[in-house]
Amino acid sequence: RWGAAVGPRRVLLASPRSFCAGVERAIEIVERALAEHGPPVYVRKQIVHNVHVVADLRRRGAVFVDDLAEVPAGAVVIFSAHGVAPAVRAQADRAGLRVIDATCPLVAKVHAEARRSAARGDLVALIGHAGHEEVEGTLGEAPGATVLVETAEDVARLPADRPVSYVMQTTLAVEEAEEIARAITRRFPDARGPRTDDICYATTNRQRAVTAVARDADLVLVVGSANSSNSRRLVEVAERGGTPALLVDGPADVPLDRLAAARVVGVTAGASAPPAMVGAVVDALRGLGPVEVEEHAVTVETTEFTLPKEVRP
Ligand code: SF4
Repeated sequence: RWGAAVGPRRVLLASPRSFCAGVERAIEIVERALAEHGPPVYVRKQIVHNVHVVADLRRRGAVFVDDLAEVPAGAVVIFSAHGVAPAVRAQADRAGLRVIDATCPLVAKVHAEARRSAARGDLVALIGHAGHEEVEGTLGEAPGATVLVETAEDVARLPADRPVSYVMQTTLAVEEAEEIARAITRRFPDARGPRTDDICYATTNRQRAVTAVARDADLVLVVGSANSSNSRRLVEVAERGGTPALLVDGPADVPLDRLAAARVVGVTAGASAPPAMVGAVVDALRGLGPVEVEEHAVTVETTEFTLPKEVRP
């Protein structure tokens, strides 16, 4: 009777959510390489940080390796969307590998900024998270000139012996990254940064969209894998607004007990999480009773990237 009185559970779908243009391009590159060359096609690291995407491509003949040393000479190898350091490109050249580069053009842009700043003689402060593959790639552009800055406190430790520039990982929480950028410009008023910031359009839009639904939700579910930086940031952004949020890889992770009391559930997905997984998670919610799904769009994305020449039709 109580259930009937409160009506169906509301699901607020954040939009934009799920795949970005860089992820779609990276997946298409692997698919086209498989179609053209036949399996196996080697992929250095996870093509994008999502267990379902990786499992699906593995089934279709992609072989994921951590190190290029695992790739036989002459084989086709794809670099992931997160980008690689120049040292990895050189290693591929030496081994005679046929490289197809799925680095997102927006990551490549940050690499170019880091190179330009280092060539000017600047110290390059890279705002980002240690250990993430994108950060390793960007650091590798100018290893002697680049320092990773993870917190505002790290800024105080930067050497002050030369001009400073800063660049960012593309998938950071916008507010935190801008706070660190402000700490840099406070300490180094002449520091040069990117014109807006390096956080990509997809990360920014997904954070705005989750903020909008979290305001009205009792709980937010973020579809994405644990190693996906932008998905984890969506959890943090929702929680910063005071709404509890959980990262789920798919319907099997949906904690039905925690959802029992949530009448309004926000649902979103990181840029590497497949749209079908969002549908599967919403279907899992139907297991608790009727749901009413509403889409909340903060903007419409139209960005598309061209494919690299090796797989262009
Ligand atoms: Fe490119 Fe942004 Fe997508 Fe990363 S999240 S692949 S930088 S568009």
